[in-house]
Amino acid sequence: MGDGRQAAQARATVLVTGGAGYIGSHTVLALLQAGWPVLVLDNLCNASAESLRRVERIAGRPAPLVVGDIRDEALLDDLLARHQIGSVLHFAGLKAVGESVARPLDYYANNVAGTGVLLRCLGRAGVRRFVFSSSATVYGDPETVPLHEEARTGPTNPYGRSKWMVEMMLEDLAAAEPDWAVGILRYFNPVGAHESGLIGEDPAGIPNNLMPFVAQVAVGRREHLGVFGGDWPTADGTGVRDYIHVVDLARGHLAALERVHAHAGAFTVNLGTGKGFSVLEMVHAFERASGRPVPYRVVERRAGDIAECWADPRRALELLGWRAELGIERMCEDAWRWQSRNPDGYRGATAPG
Ligand code: NAD
Ligand code: UDP
Repeated sequence: MGDGRQAAQARATVLVTGGAGYIGSHTVLALLQAGWPVLVLDNLCNASAESLRRVERIAGRPAPLVVGDIRDEALLDDLLARHQIGSVLHFAGLKAVGESVARPLDYYANNVAGTGVLLRCLGRAGVRRFVFSSSATVYGDPETVPLHEEARTGPTNPYGRSKWMVEMMLEDLAAAEPDWAVGILRYFNPVGAHESGLIGEDPAGIPNNLMPFVAQVAVGRREHLGVFGGDWPTADGTGVRDYIHVVDLARGHLAALERVHAHAGAFTVNLGTGKGFSVLEMVHAFERASGRPVPYRVVERRAGDIAECWADPRRALELLGWRAELGIERMCEDAWRWQSRNPDGYRGATAPG
């Protein structure tokens, strides 16, 4: 690529599905700050439009939102006809593992069939640059760590299988129609928040993930953390994961976007730091960052959990020139700033000054 037509297209609007959500909102901010025009499509099933108002406030640029569903073909056709979309970052989807076990059809309908509808509409409209939010969960229980992209996949729950199915769908599409440019990003454990303290992770109900739970304990919304197992084969007996700052993750999307604007074909990369930290290491880092105690009790292992999981991040550096830069201290400081200034998340809040 690189001719005038492509250069003009490179500045065309980026459609961000699920852009009002946790990772999407941080990425929309990074896009705006890098000069990309954006259009967000989100049905707000797990997000608040307030996140985008705050993004606009930080960036000083508009982050327009269309409230709608990726499965709404007529809406997508209309949106694609009205806007000059050059590429898509596809975050929209359901992501709770436990819920996916209880309601698998919702996950296949939303994540798999929904992505199918989106891709069909995009293909018709001639928009063939696409970046997909996949997950390290597609690896299942790793045979060895660190995990490189060629490691065996084997997701162990419907959520993971839905991500894996979309990966297969995208690879088949890129093979069948070589003008598609597709980036599959396997995130490890996104945590943290933008340094402004204005946007962050705002889970509905009881958080499923470790760090939002820890943050809610530190701020006094919950009494103590349950640590899921103290007898894992790890240094301190608690589970080990590769936590990645959401702002690093957002930058990874910018790098992937540049790549799909420059090269056709499909690629798959891990987005992780390459380092693993245990539950207790994260709890203690959060205590240091917040100056608050995080009481915990070791409880039973959670069904389906694995001992340890971290990325081999080399391919992202080779292919995208991207690497994670922020460590766990920053992740905890930024998560605490967000949590302490917005103890109830976006609900009922006016943006803190
Ligand atoms: P999130 O729930 O905050 O964001 C997802 C957004 O998609 C929400 O704003 C929701 O309202 C929207 N949405 C859901 N279904 C939709 C539909 N059918 N049409 C339009 N909008 C819809 O989650 P997140 O943590 O920001 O995750 C973003 C993506 O990254 C998801 O696809 C998730 O599976 C993936 N991912 C997340 C993690 C993580 O730990 N947060 C890890 C790996 C992968
Ligand atoms: N975890 C925990 N208590 C919680 C939530 C999570 O001990 O309330 C542990 C979990 O067993 C795992 C780690 O924290 O070892 C990260 O869990 P999370 O659900 O955030 O991510 P995932 O398991 O999907 O990698």
